[in-house]
Amino acid sequence: MADDIIDRLLRIQDQDLRIVDMERELAALPERGKKLENELNDYHTAITAAQEQRKAAQLDVKRLEMEDQEHRQKISRLREQQMTLKTNREFRTMEEEIAVVQLRLGQLETRLLESMETVDSLSQELDGRKKELKQAEQAIEKEKELLIVRGRQVEEELEELRNQRKIAATSIPATWLSAYDRLFNGKRDRVLVSVENGICGGCHMKLPPAVTHSARRAESMVTCDFCGRMLYSDHRMT
Ligand SMILES: [Zn+2]
Repeated sequence: MADDIIDRLLRIQDQDLRIVDMERELAALPERGKKLENELNDYHTAITAAQEQRKAAQLDVKRLEMEDQEHRQKISRLREQQMTLKTNREFRTMEEEIAVVQLRLGQLETRLLESMETVDSLSQELDGRKKELKQAEQAIEKEKELLIVRGRQVEEELEELRNQRKIAATSIPATWLSAYDRLFNGKRDRVLVSVENGICGGCHMKLPPAVTHSARRAESMVTCDFCGRMLYSDHRMT
């Protein structure tokens, strides 16, 4: 009698375990969707950062170009002034002044070139990141669709499993079913466990020989004194 109940209850337990798994998967789906969104946000953040870097570099270029222009104008102004000078000494002094400005102009142009190269490499980086974003968007969109499909699939399977489980439960005596349900709802894990070599398959404690014996006889409900799980033996005598 109990032997048959145990077999049916084991099948119900398998269904319950699958239901728990699927409920967990379903509950984790929104988090997975959010993770995909976050991945996409990371790409956008990187692009915004690169754009800001480039903007700063472009401003540098503009500023240096203006300074460059100012230095050139100053040099031509000084050259014009130089023409009006009367003495060699004045002329030489002016020449030195011009040389100082020219030196600064040279330094400025080096910096200007560097800034222009920075703008170029940041532009390249930005193009690369935009390409990456586009690919990521497509991949993530696909993954999100898969998540939606999976969600529907799991919901359908869950409904079917729950129906099957409801039908299967009608064949279990109420005392057994309520004891099992109480245990399963508490642990959400295996609560009908086998006795192997006199050890509880749930908590792995050594069971008294009388309990192991009862499990083998399979005449009534046997539970573990330590963890409260229901016990059965793979070597039942019935
Ligand atoms: Zn136990």
